[in-house]
Amino acid sequence: MSSSHSTSRRIQARLRRRPAGDQSGDTVWLFDLDNTLHDASHAIFPAINRLMTAYVARVLGCDDATASRVRVDYWQRYGATLLGMIRHHGVDPADFLRAAHEFPELADMVRVRRGLAAHLRRLPGRKIIVTNAPQAYARAVLDIAGISHCFERVIAIEQMWVHGHLRPKPDRRMLRRLLAQSGIAPHRAVLVEDTLSHLKRYAGTGIRTAWVTGYLRTIAPSRPHVVAAPEASGSRGDAAVRSTLDAEDRQHASHAAQEHSVTLVAAESQVPPAAGATGLSPQSQPENAPRVRARVPNRPAYVDIKVQSMHQLQQRLRRTGS
Ligand SMILES: [Mg+2]
Repeated sequence: MSSSHSTSRRIQARLRRRPAGDQSGDTVWLFDLDNTLHDASHAIFPAINRLMTAYVARVLGCDDATASRVRVDYWQRYGATLLGMIRHHGVDPADFLRAAHEFPELADMVRVRRGLAAHLRRLPGRKIIVTNAPQAYARAVLDIAGISHCFERVIAIEQMWVHGHLRPKPDRRMLRRLLAQSGIAPHRAVLVEDTLSHLKRYAGTGIRTAWVTGYLRTIAPSRPHVVAAPEASGSRGDAAVRSTLDAEDRQHASHAAQEHSVTLVAAESQVPPAAGATGLSPQSQPENAPRVRARVPNRPAYVDIKVQSMHQLQQRLRRTGS
């Protein structure tokens, strides 16, 4: 048996994990936006970091260097600069997100691969955007990319409040509630994401996962202000949060080595990189630092399918007849 044939059979088996009689048309695709459908690494994320630093400097009344340190510190402690700014400075999340996503030149910053709309259209099933970015930004990016018509809804961070707390991805309760409200059985949903820590967090929830690697870079952050946060981050102390993260790391120790490079790539390392290993954290890399394509490891067990692009995803599904 050729290796390509056996690969195809394995993919087929993974994607067929659905009840008998369930048709592919019943699949509901939950698409991340940044670095999944378009390349946010080259211009947008560095700009978000700049805007966010300026916002922190305004609120704290400090210089940019201090603000940048605070931004990175909150990101490391809470998984999101925004969550730290809410907790310690009572900022209005809508105001923060609006300020961090104001791009007069957005049209020049969005990069998509040719044929994206056609590839998305050929994927059978409903399609929903689920992004930790604000609604207005997400809709603007979709319009510029020419793919707004491909999606029935945009779930943005404004729709991710659960019991009075902001619960962005990868919060499980938020996604469970979203699916329940939309009448989507978890086994029908496929989360399509570049952020490995998000996919890992949703392992065991019944949702299938597709990991998109084509836009990962070694330096540019994948989601600078909202990244993997433990579910208990809003209600427990920092020590408990760190302990939760440590426990999760131990639990997934078998994947730790291969994931290390990717968490750096995605700037979503839940634990700061060891001193001397890579120098600065990705969040504090100079904006003009060279960006090179990531060395992407093999597919972890909790990822159902790994693809570089929407084109490849659509081709794989067509090949397997799913
Ligand atoms: Mg992303």
